[in-house]
Amino acid sequence: MSNHIYDVCVVGAGVNGSASAYSLAKQKKDVLLLEQFPVPHTRGSSHGQSRIVRCLYPSMCYAKTSFDSFALWKQLEKEVDDKLLIQNGILEVFKNGAEKLKRCLEVLDRLGAPYDLLTAEQINIKYPLLKVPHGYSGIVEHNGGMVLASKCVAALQKVFVRNGGVFQDGEPVTRIMPGSTITIHTKKGKYYSRSLIITAGPFTSKLTKPLGLNLPLNIRRTRACYWRLKEEKSGSTSHCPSFIMFGIYGLACHEYPGLIKICQHTGPIVDIDYPDVAHDIEEVKNFVRLYTDGVEERPSIVENCLYTLTPDRDFIIDVHPKYQNIVIGAGFSGTGFKMAPATGNILADLALGRIPSYDISKFKMGRFPAIVDKKSSL
Ligand SMILES: Cc1cc2nc3c(=O)[nH]c(=O)nc-3n(C[C@H](O)[C@H](O)[C@H](O)COP(=O)(O)OP(=O)(O)OC[C@H]3O[C@@H](n4cnc5c(N)ncnc54)[C@H](O)[C@@H]3O)c2cc1C
Repeated sequence: MSNHIYDVCVVGAGVNGSASAYSLAKQKKDVLLLEQFPVPHTRGSSHGQSRIVRCLYPSMCYAKTSFDSFALWKQLEKEVDDKLLIQNGILEVFKNGAEKLKRCLEVLDRLGAPYDLLTAEQINIKYPLLKVPHGYSGIVEHNGGMVLASKCVAALQKVFVRNGGVFQDGEPVTRIMPGSTITIHTKKGKYYSRSLIITAGPFTSKLTKPLGLNLPLNIRRTRACYWRLKEEKSGSTSHCPSFIMFGIYGLACHEYPGLIKICQHTGPIVDIDYPDVAHDIEEVKNFVRLYTDGVEERPSIVENCLYTLTPDRDFIIDVHPKYQNIVIGAGFSGTGFKMAPATGNILADLALGRIPSYDISKFKMGRFPAIVDKKSSL
């Protein structure tokens, strides 16, 4: 391999790595994107047909990056001439008067994002698929809905390459040697780069541990369940928004005709090398039985996916405490897809030594104790 020195090398071509590479290539940087598996693959967190999009968050930093990403997804749609974003609304259900409900409303008002506030009774009339109990209410954010996940990742990679980026899949990074020029060893050879972005999803610790970091990342196996509708009630699915209710989330029928996606927002902790563990879905079954109408009581299709979670569930977006030209983006699951275009811009800014235009203080890794391994020789 040549002695060519890239401006930035990105390790991991899930949605966040692909969005970072896309952002950098569009800024005319010389970028290498490395992915361990041949694409597309189903062994990280970004595969599947759909992800919820919303800026319905109690915290402004998530809401603002998500809000800005609507326009960035639409820009990508134009670049690939394909539909990626379906804005059929997102409903979140809260106990009446809950503090989180008030905070979400404040954030939506500050952003100027359109929404309705509905009682349980109004929700049940408007969306006959759901049975929301008395004493609850819901916010419907009109611009929310879903993005077509696998299509989005492929689109980011396509535009990246079209803008001169070099994409090597099926090429695992095995070792990273820090320095003013970083050496990146893969199973096939080595590359050189002035800076590096690690967006390796559930595999992150395998790369960051040898760089002297003990990031507190848990890997959880989660299941995407698709449920058959007993019969199409008038308008029940076509008017069903994405929804979040009692720790369960759902998306209207899209990937499998006649099947609605309803899933639990967690799962058992697993070892990344052996992620296939027994995992029951009783809580989702209970939810379907109690709070939906017209949905069969067991799923027709169940697919696996991995979450990577920090202890406080907030992302890690930061530079390495010792090597300022190594940037890490991790802990994005299960909410990190929707704002990936904005996250990609932030990671790109950090890799170029710029101050991002968003407040990312919440995502600094120094919030966790003892992340720097004192015994590391690096
Ligand atoms: C079932 C499920 C539902 C979800 N629902 C939503 C939702 O509704 N809305 C939402 O916004 N988010 C959602 N999420 C979360 C979102 O999908 C993730 O946060 C996001 O996909 C994480 O992307 P990533 O690029 O950080 O990681 P990944 O997608 O895991 O990508 C990391 C990549 O790095 C590669 N890699 C790792 N190590 C190496 C190496 N050594 N060399 C080269 N390559 C390497 C991996 O192979 C992988 O391709 C959901 C997640 C799951 C699993």
